[in-house]
Amino acid sequence: RLPTVAIVGRPNVGKSTLFNRLVGKKLALVDDRPGVTRDRREGDAHLLGLDFRVIDTAGYEDEDPDTLPGRMRQQTQAAVDAADVALFVVDARAGVVPLDEEIARWLRGADTPIVLMANKAEGRAGESGVYEAMALGFGDPVVFSAEHGEGIVELFEALLPHL
Ligand code: GDP
Ligand code: MG
Repeated sequence: RLPTVAIVGRPNVGKSTLFNRLVGKKLALVDDRPGVTRDRREGDAHLLGLDFRVIDTAGYEDEDPDTLPGRMRQQTQAAVDAADVALFVVDARAGVVPLDEEIARWLRGADTPIVLMANKAEGRAGESGVYEAMALGFGDPVVFSAEHGEGIVELFEALLPHL
């Protein structure tokens, strides 16, 4: 069995872009439990010699982005609990917002190791967001750009101890 990595975070931080970068052409659509796993995507990822199963806990973009629906929390919690490690993604350009802090609060209670990622950090626009992310309680974030493919080695190094 491949180790499992769950991608979590509020809508629009770049979870699906990260998923696509990790999975590449091997992208798989998983819809085995309609209504429960709506838009949950899984695929086999390859990262500098690491092989793992990756789960994108996306699919709530059409819901009110300012609340954390119980269903989102339930599904995300299940994915995190089942994973060997979870990638908690924040948007370095937008900075840390209350919903990130809310997600951080309940991720702190999880037994699963959490790797914090400050995505959209290409260029200088993400610098203050990277510093804000440090205050979330998961150590220094992996400074990343899913769109530009920056931070791959740092992500590898952060995942390595957990896989
Ligand atoms: P999700 O809702 O968390 O799955 O986020 P998406 O992957 O759908 O991305 C939301 C938006 O952020 C899209 O417009 C992406 O193109 C954009 N995005 C994702 N990653 C990056 C990045 O590294 N840099 C920038 N500038 N934009 C990004
Ligand atoms: Mg998505």
